[in-house]
Amino acid sequence: MTAVMVGLAVAGLTGVLLAFANWRWPASESDLINGINALLPQTQCAQCGFPGCLPYARAIAAGEAPLNLCPPGGKTTHEALIRLLPDHDRGNPPVEPSPVTAFIDESRCIGCYLCIPACPVDAIVGAKGFMHTVLTKECTGCGLCVAPCPVDCITLEDVVIR
Ligand code: SF4
Ligand code: SF4
Repeated sequence: MTAVMVGLAVAGLTGVLLAFANWRWPASESDLINGINALLPQTQCAQCGFPGCLPYARAIAAGEAPLNLCPPGGKTTHEALIRLLPDHDRGNPPVEPSPVTAFIDESRCIGCYLCIPACPVDAIVGAKGFMHTVLTKECTGCGLCVAPCPVDCITLEDVVIR
């Protein structure tokens, strides 16, 4: 009888410890979120309606968002997410975005610096009071820099593939 009681006590304690470990160090959930986030293009452009790629990954993992909300990722990201989460709400395949890049009309730029903090991938260079320019290789075409420009000298141009 004592052996049974001790066994039950040990089993109970083990159960409590495992529940605590799962609460304190949730393994599967964060792995899933990290796995989803790794498939997203990290442009942090918020075109999915979430304030960045990780919040979108969290919403997908929580079953609160379909897999087709990432325009810069296009079909490639959509298909990769479907492979990772075949039973998830996949939504209609997103339209593959035509590649664009931001262009600053340097003759009109007043060097106000407002576009630099707006760019999530640091693709704009310039100093206060001086002309700014876009590093086209870094630009994802997210368009977040267009609205803050007080002189409207930033436009999104089609990428010319040579
Ligand atoms: S330069 Fe503009 S369009 Fe390009 S990534 Fe930065 S914010 Fe987006
Ligand atoms: S926001 Fe417009 S005017 Fe200001 S630095 Fe950028 S490009 Fe130039």
